[in-house]
Amino acid sequence: MKSEKSQKNFIEQIIDDDLESGKNDGRVHTRFPPEPNGYLHIGHAKSICLNFGLAEEYGGFCNLRFDDTNPTKEEEEYVDSIIEDVKWLGFDWGERLYFASDYFEEMYRYAVQLIKAGKAYVDDLSAEEIREYRGTLTKPGKKSPYRDRSIEENLDLFRRMRLGDFVDGTRVLRAKIDMASPNLNMRDPVMYRIIHATHHRTGDKWCIYPTYDWAHGLEDSIEGVTHSICTLEFEDHRPLYDWYLDELNVFHPQQIEFARLNLSYTVMSKRKLLELVKQGFVSGWDDPRMPTLSGLRRRGYTPESIRKFTERVGIAKREGIVDLGLLEYSVREDLNKRAPRVMGVLHPLRVVIDNYPEDQTEELEAINNPEDPSMGTRNVPFSKVIYIERNDFREDPPRKYFRLAPGREVRLRYAYFIKCVDVVKDEKTGEVIELHCTYDPASKGGSSPDGRKVKGTIHWVSAAHAIKAKVRLYDRLFSSPNPGREKGDADFKTVLNPNSLETLDNCYLEPSLSHAKAGSHYQFERLGYFYVDPVDSMEGAPVFNRTVSLRDSWAKIEKSLKLEK
Ligand code: ATP
Ligand code: MG
Repeated sequence: MKSEKSQKNFIEQIIDDDLESGKNDGRVHTRFPPEPNGYLHIGHAKSICLNFGLAEEYGGFCNLRFDDTNPTKEEEEYVDSIIEDVKWLGFDWGERLYFASDYFEEMYRYAVQLIKAGKAYVDDLSAEEIREYRGTLTKPGKKSPYRDRSIEENLDLFRRMRLGDFVDGTRVLRAKIDMASPNLNMRDPVMYRIIHATHHRTGDKWCIYPTYDWAHGLEDSIEGVTHSICTLEFEDHRPLYDWYLDELNVFHPQQIEFARLNLSYTVMSKRKLLELVKQGFVSGWDDPRMPTLSGLRRRGYTPESIRKFTERVGIAKREGIVDLGLLEYSVREDLNKRAPRVMGVLHPLRVVIDNYPEDQTEELEAINNPEDPSMGTRNVPFSKVIYIERNDFREDPPRKYFRLAPGREVRLRYAYFIKCVDVVKDEKTGEVIELHCTYDPASKGGSSPDGRKVKGTIHWVSAAHAIKAKVRLYDRLFSSPNPGREKGDADFKTVLNPNSLETLDNCYLEPSLSHAKAGSHYQFERLGYFYVDPVDSMEGAPVFNRTVSLRDSWAKIEKSLKLEK
């Protein structure tokens, strides 16, 4: 437990007060209650870390509960993916995996209890009419003509709703509260709708389904949840949450609202993400450009980096938008410690070292991770023909360009100084297709033989030894910092970034990567962190996804070059 009360967030303060006053016999019990109607996204991660984190912090429990009350939108596939994602984030619900659908019978009995108390009635108004009768913020609602049905008639109709006597949309069960309440949620809210649909768990057993407001508090109460944490949009629903539990006189958890996570350049509603998947804008829920946990995982994000990110974002009562850069910073920081360094060339330019012996190969020692000496060294083969990165050469270098150019000398990382002596171009296009260089045998390992300085150090691979690989580079999925939330991009799909995916089929990587295991992380020197795609990689033919660039080195240099041109 944290020692300084002043450093605690407002939810911890509420819990501390509850513990002090002896509320709930000192229990702390939270839950993460996803609706299985899509894959989890980074916003859910915030809620997961908060709920499971509080349980850990206070020595309590956190349930994983599926709020599976709407059969038309929910699927088993989503249940499975959610379980996988919460586990992957590193949380454990022990035996406490629950489904709201397991409580349908109990909820039905509670509804009967409310009817018997004269607090609920069957209404024959259509959905449309109910909306009309509800009124607005400035106009009070109108009572339904069915509002004063006898308890017997209500009990009978409700029983027959359950039996399947009526078609969808013809009747609902409503709570009898107050049609003039300033809070629209209290104007006789709907508790049950008739939906003849097969539920992924209860099959065709039910044809009436509870609404969120009716079901959620009961789920919390049945499970003995003490602190029911949800996002701010439910603040106006809290009086209803409380009303149901008070009227039923059952265990009463406390609903607490916090600000949801919003990220720049990202949409975060499952409905919108489903649209991207269904309409083929991405390859699936786990497309590495998606803000889903499965997408982030496939991109190369680690659970540690996501947990750290949510910790940094903190818990607030006011909504804001978090910069995507903070998420990227968190994964960089984590991978910097754990990812072995390797060399790979994404846009290859062939370089022949004229004075290097034709059939010679040398094994040069390279450091696996300067941040962690315990990760040791490896050997990288060097030979007469190598590949370097195309933009590490400029025929006509601008000022402050310290890489290779005609007559210039650079250091090949871990290898030698080389000097460019000739440039070969395609006769037709004028494109540079090959460089000729000489090397200084006295500079082995990349150290200066006579104190002469070279300013640039570039990466390379030996052509004869390199493996060819496919590499995918990603950019933001949206070109608007606030997709769908700003005027002018009402349809968030109109602000998709057309260049969010770049696939490079002919990259050359150092041979140690031929056996790179699916699901492993690397830093390609100077290029970023890369992840071996677990879906598309095959034994001996890894496919790499760039998790994130290194930002510092290249981004800055490229930017300054552009400014100078
Ligand atoms: P979406 O609108 O993205 O579909 P949801 O709130 O409908 O999300 P649920 O499955 O109902 O999705 O959410 C499960 C839990 O995750 C809820 O407690 C919800 O408040 C929380 N949650 C959802 N989105 C966010 C977010 N962006 N930030 C923090 N918590 C979130
Ligand atoms: Mg929802």
